[in-house]
Amino acid sequence: MVLDPDDLQYIYLTSNLLNGSIPEWIKSKDNRYQIDVSYNNFSKDSEPSTCSEYLNVFKSASSPNNSLSEACWDNHPCKEVQYSLHINCGGREITIRGVKYEDDRDLGGGAKFVPVRPNWGTSSTGVFWDTNITSEDYIANNVSALGMENSQLYTNARLTPLSLTYYANCLGDGNYTVKLHFAEIIIRGNRSYRSVGRRIFDVYIQEKLVWKDFDIVKEAKGVDKEVIKETKAVQVKNKTLEIRFHWSGKGTTASPRRGIYGPLISAISVESEFKHSKRDMRIVVGISVGASIVCLSFLICGILCWKGCLMDSQPSREEVLKGLDLQTGLFTLRQIKAATNNFDPLNKIGEGGFGPVYKGILLDGTIIAVKQLSSKSKQGNREFVNEIGLISCLQHPNLVKMYGCCIEGNQLLLVYEYLENNSLARALYGPDDDSLNLDWPTRHKICLGIAKGLAYLHEESAVKVVHRDIKTTNVLLDQDLNAKISDFGLARLDEDENTHISTKTIAGTIGYMAPEYALWGCLTYKTDVYSFGIVALETVAGKNMKYRPDENIQCLLDWALVLQREGNLLELVDPRLGSDFNKKEAIRTIKVALLCANPTAALRPIMSAVVSMLKGRTAIDEPALDQSIHGDDMTRLRAFENLSEQNAQGRSSNGSRSLIRSSDAPWSGSSNITTSADLYKVYSF
Ligand code: ATP
Repeated sequence: MVLDPDDLQYIYLTSNLLNGSIPEWIKSKDNRYQIDVSYNNFSKDSEPSTCSEYLNVFKSASSPNNSLSEACWDNHPCKEVQYSLHINCGGREITIRGVKYEDDRDLGGGAKFVPVRPNWGTSSTGVFWDTNITSEDYIANNVSALGMENSQLYTNARLTPLSLTYYANCLGDGNYTVKLHFAEIIIRGNRSYRSVGRRIFDVYIQEKLVWKDFDIVKEAKGVDKEVIKETKAVQVKNKTLEIRFHWSGKGTTASPRRGIYGPLISAISVESEFKHSKRDMRIVVGISVGASIVCLSFLICGILCWKGCLMDSQPSREEVLKGLDLQTGLFTLRQIKAATNNFDPLNKIGEGGFGPVYKGILLDGTIIAVKQLSSKSKQGNREFVNEIGLISCLQHPNLVKMYGCCIEGNQLLLVYEYLENNSLARALYGPDDDSLNLDWPTRHKICLGIAKGLAYLHEESAVKVVHRDIKTTNVLLDQDLNAKISDFGLARLDEDENTHISTKTIAGTIGYMAPEYALWGCLTYKTDVYSFGIVALETVAGKNMKYRPDENIQCLLDWALVLQREGNLLELVDPRLGSDFNKKEAIRTIKVALLCANPTAALRPIMSAVVSMLKGRTAIDEPALDQSIHGDDMTRLRAFENLSEQNAQGRSSNGSRSLIRSSDAPWSGSSNITTSADLYKVYSF
């Protein structure tokens, strides 16, 4: 395999006993890579003069007294000596029994040492090699209900694939008791393939190995359970304390899920063993106030239970779902109601085939989107089960993250990460106030993101999935306008590892549906490839697929084919971009889109090839269009008539999700395809 220098992102020189001067090229500000020179013996005077996020110089120099980069710590002089330190690793500031655990939400990195606080900092080394990494991956989140005491300490955790160090530099010299709080909140599978995942690491305190091959699950005797490891008489000298979590060369490094392995720590508690006076008073007051609150809460809960307020009846739907091996967090209805202000209509952000979607904020500040499955929906249970089972094991930067679900009373709710920029449909052609001015690099990034998400679903994930309903409303955009594919409710597992999957039930949206699927229900991964082609065309053109520049042209795809024949593909590009865009890249993207939207499934590329073509690494085959491929027009017309009838029945019978849907304004989900002739037009190749 030839390595493309453009792909180089990280250089690791950590823990190599390197000496001499740190080379200038490593310190250069023009570096495009993240470089880690931590734990080496470079000369102190060769350290960089400024602290950079892209260069981890933690303990890169040999110095008996102060081995930290002065450039980094000089900006954060230690204001006063402390005798305790409490950190809620990866989480927000919280106070438990009068003890304040400091906020540690700063995003991590593969080679990062930025002492953001005057009194402590972290150094993180190692990249999750099997995922498209973002700095968020270095913080583990569990937003579902955890049963242990002080669960706020375990809701978030900091993790890193190789080595994570917490470093304190303002502690008074003397002996300390160090307590480390752990809970396995991510590798939590029980009866599934995920149970093979094992997190094993070593813990060093003051560079001394304290716990070897530490296994949280083994120590805590299960997942979602806390274990607090304590060590006494830890000697602090020169005001510094170092706690290091280091991969021990054992356990999971890739499977069972991406980017979740490596050392993990939930909270750190450090207390001096020699300075007690003021602090003890605070703890005594804290404990008595805390105890009173707990007693009061028990009393209130008791009264409410007695009155039946907390006792929801157990409906049969809950029974039906009991057999499901949930791989995801469970929320209580109370939590969701609190988050959404009791499903306040003001918090409603959209409505899809399932029902309304609400924005909410959990107690820990996490913003969520709650999809409320309509209780009238006949397909509800089946689709709900599909969504939970599938989404919970699919994790990729280009898929919307599912935090968990709630099954209580009549409520079936899915809880997702909230994406700030709504759907791609709205960004491209929503009402003026809602549409976004997407420049060319963003549009290209979006196409690439969708392609990567699909490549993961089709080729990389442990359970291969055909999405079946790729369209611009099912692509959501995060705050940085990264594309994330949503709505796996219609996805199917390809358990037999068979590339051809056929199904009796057709689900998808007219206009995005591959002809062989719409006509004959023939479902393969190539069905999604076709839909991707249409979405990519819409993204480049900034127009809905039903766009007709004149009456001779039936849809956006038709127009693109005509322009291709005329050698004028650039005319398709959204005029809102003006002339300031990468023309070569735009033409390449359109050609890839047309190749994907080829009526012959076999001629469509697989999604990993699409990713490679979009990046310009692979040549693009010119699409071949054979008008005779799909048989005679009458057959197609009849098939569409059947589909149209089914569609109408689906709509009238339950008033909610129908299996075949059409889109007039894709951001609203309504329809104006009323006749089979109209349907036929959409697919007149
Ligand atoms: P359909 O169900 O027909 O596929 P849809 O994709 O629009 O249509 P939903 O997935 O239920 O339906 O979403 C409805 C709307 O809610 C979306 O268009 C979007 O505006 C909003 N929405 C859904 N999920 C999120 C999310 N995670 N973050 C932010 N907004 C969301």
